[in-house]
Amino acid sequence: MRHRFIPAGSGLFLGVVFALSGCQPPEDRGGKPKDQANEKAEKADAKAKHDAWWCAEHGIPEDECSMCSAKVAKECKARGDWCEKHDRAKSQCFICDPSLKEKFAARYRAKYGKEPPPIEEEKDEKGEK
Ligand SMILES: [Zn+2]
Ligand SMILES: [Zn+2]
Repeated sequence: MRHRFIPAGSGLFLGVVFALSGCQPPEDRGGKPKDQANEKAEKADAKAKHDAWWCAEHGIPEDECSMCSAKVAKECKARGDWCEKHDRAKSQCFICDPSLKEKFAARYRAKYGKEPPPIEEEKDEKGEK
């Protein structure tokens, strides 16, 4: 006797293996929590950017930004350091005194050793002038 009957048998066997392995992809799709974890990590990154030392929107350290922090705004108003026209601390009003921008930019350079990001608000101001 040779193994002539075995191919049929092994074929059946393979069929069973296929059927079994066919059940696996749905289980693999249960790997979604991994994607969700990635999403969470991205959100955490975005938050970290927002909590950064530098307020890229106004070109001022975040905890000194009279436009972002109501507390800072109040303190500045209390000592008369306020630009009514532009609704921010006079010492932070780059519109009234563009040289102030360079002062804050120098602090950014001292900390990070590179140029600060372009001030987002400034683009709009330029368009208005
Ligand atoms: Zn700000
Ligand atoms: Zn001003």
